[in-house]
Amino acid sequence: VACAGAFTLAPEEFYVADALILCQGERVTAVGPRCRLEGETAGPVFDLGQAVLAPGLVNAHVHLSLSHTAGRTELGRGFLAWLKSLVPLLREKPGRTLLSRVAAGLAAQGTAAAGEIAGRWTGDVLEALAAAGVESVSLLEFFGFQGSGTLDWPMAAAEIPPERLHVFGHALYSTRDTLLQAAKAWAASEGRVFSLHLAESPEELDFCLTGHGPLASFFAGHGLLPADYRPPGLRPVAWAEALGLLGPGTLAVHCVQATEAEAVLLAATGTSVCLCPRSNANIHVGRAPWEAFLEAGANVCLGTDGLSSNTDLSLWNELRYFRKRYRGRLDLPAALTLVSANPARALGLDTDYGAITPGRRAVFAVLPPDVLAWSREEKTRP
Ligand SMILES: [Zn+2]
Repeated sequence: VACAGAFTLAPEEFYVADALILCQGERVTAVGPRCRLEGETAGPVFDLGQAVLAPGLVNAHVHLSLSHTAGRTELGRGFLAWLKSLVPLLREKPGRTLLSRVAAGLAAQGTAAAGEIAGRWTGDVLEALAAAGVESVSLLEFFGFQGSGTLDWPMAAAEIPPERLHVFGHALYSTRDTLLQAAKAWAASEGRVFSLHLAESPEELDFCLTGHGPLASFFAGHGLLPADYRPPGLRPVAWAEALGLLGPGTLAVHCVQATEAEAVLLAATGTSVCLCPRSNANIHVGRAPWEAFLEAGANVCLGTDGLSSNTDLSLWNELRYFRKRYRGRLDLPAALTLVSANPARALGLDTDYGAITPGRRAVFAVLPPDVLAWSREEKTRP
């Protein structure tokens, strides 16, 4: 593949101008300047002209199974209003045509892989992703205060190829702590990813600290919260830490209500953090301390979340939104790592994705012209 430039995001050579990427089968075998590699291939050359490439994008957090809720949830009025509008829609099954269209849209945006929260309808979602050529990391969801708190595998587990099965604990406010611990323990022993929604809304903060507030009333009203429930009286990040849920192999999603000190803690434990800036803004739960996470050196990823709280599943749009509002310097390579190298690492995909380098899969994203223009902007900035 020949192109005007490639952000390889590989430590040896972050950017290669006038690049040639040699591939065999599905894998990259070499990448470098065209003048150096031209003699090394007898195969056909696909010349992409002025295109500049990045590694195929990786969406760290998405709910494809909620695609049918697009435009039907209550946005802008806080977490509980949004949740109340979403719950009745969970009974509906997303159509296969819709799933195919959404999955094809991911691929068209240069998305190579996605961390999909898996539950009911997983078979249909995986089929749509496979047909679109998007690799899926299935994070099977555990939810609820019922049961013994041991891992009771739902039916959907059987629909997921065992080597791509990972686990997702819905949240501290919705799921028994011992169940979250069991999911984390299984993931740690099997070398799989454990992920959870963490510190998303002010209501979650209230729930964890006091056991009261609108979320507690909502869950109690639905018979989903045991009458004898006692909260830990800790902030969400501190509670997750006390339960042993953080650390390498954990992907914490949202972290809007994290303090700067908690951002440092998450980074220090090796927990990956997925920010979903547009979802948070749309639901109106606040803005995570983005800069604190990056400054603390956390493995920060961007995710689109589902169409239940976002207008589209484009990581380019997520990145545009994020960069525009980021308070500080975020150069183009650093921005690209948030949607490729970092989420690939967080989802355990870094032997296949996240860089254009020998051995990785030959799946690339074309930089949109306005994103490419960021590098010119950076050069002219005093
Ligand atoms: Zn989510």
